[in-house]
Amino acid sequence: MAEFKDYYQVLGVPRTATEEEIKRAYRTLARQYHPDLNPDPQAAEKMREINEAYEVLSDPEKRARYDQTGSAEEGAFGPFTGGFGDFGFGDIFEAFFGTAFRQAKTRERGPQRGRDLQVGLRVTLKDVALGCEREISVLRLEKCPACGGTGSEPGTFPTLCPRCQGKGEIRQVNQSLFGQFIQVIECPDCHGEGTIIRNPCRNCRGSGLIQARREIKVKIPPGVEEGTKIRLSGEGEAGWKGGPSGDLFVLISVEKDPRFQRSGAHLRTTIEVPYYIMALGGTVEVDSVLEKVPLEIPPGTPSDAQLTLKGKGLPVLGRNQKGDLIVTLKVEVPRKLSPEEKELLEKIAQIRGNGKSPQPRKKGRGLFRNH
Ligand SMILES: [Zn+2]
Ligand SMILES: [Zn+2]
Repeated sequence: MAEFKDYYQVLGVPRTATEEEIKRAYRTLARQYHPDLNPDPQAAEKMREINEAYEVLSDPEKRARYDQTGSAEEGAFGPFTGGFGDFGFGDIFEAFFGTAFRQAKTRERGPQRGRDLQVGLRVTLKDVALGCEREISVLRLEKCPACGGTGSEPGTFPTLCPRCQGKGEIRQVNQSLFGQFIQVIECPDCHGEGTIIRNPCRNCRGSGLIQARREIKVKIPPGVEEGTKIRLSGEGEAGWKGGPSGDLFVLISVEKDPRFQRSGAHLRTTIEVPYYIMALGGTVEVDSVLEKVPLEIPPGTPSDAQLTLKGKGLPVLGRNQKGDLIVTLKVEVPRKLSPEEKELLEKIAQIRGNGKSPQPRKKGRGLFRNH
């Protein structure tokens, strides 16, 4: 809602000025403030005011309405006689009809950004280790190639909406307890667009957008985790009225590998090692995600011992750095022994137990005996 502006004061003429006097005043001011002639950035704003004032006062019908109501708008407030303290018109609107008024005022009609899209993508641990490139299939709204997004049949253009003069909104006079008030509503003819498409594009039926399925290549960097989102800038849905496209987000999920437990860039794994290697020491091979890695086992390693293979885990996302592979060792006890093995083991048992066979442990004598 426009505040009251004294157009006579803007043009510097008395309220009794003739049409000729108004025209002369306008020309003088235009020479002074026209942005082409005056580089001062405030001149443009001043020129806008001058134009507005001249537009109203140079038109006898608009001038008469303005003189009567303080506004050139149809159905504006009656003469403002006070009673609301220091409120301007805009303030009164905010106070009594606040939300609806503000919404109408801020309704966006200009370019709008397209929607963001999200697509899920499942990768393996190997993909996490190396990074990979995938193609994903996306159904999205795109700018209609036939009309270039205007919605008008090629060769034609949208025309200015005659009802709202391109403003996209119209003012409606309502009666209320407080007297007449104006409600700003969306123009019903153009639905707030400000333009009307007389010849809708046949390809998009006038919407300016078409639905298309695209295969989009996406690079997955090494080190992604469950829930990592990769943004593909501008690959979402097309914008509206020349607005930018939205983004496409690729939501990563990582396939579980039964061999590994992951925590960030570190991996944990458990392997079985023959009892004689645990006792004597030696080298075994451990699966990492990409390859078999030799693991040195020191002599006399107890069961459940953990050894760390530095840098054999997964890459850290976005960094030239790798996590560790932490290996838990379980003793592998053979189920069946050959006669020779049996003989040798019995011999070891004799040596260790000073010739006595080891006694089976009695029940309840363990470390965690019940009280
Ligand atoms: Zn089209
Ligand atoms: Zn309209």
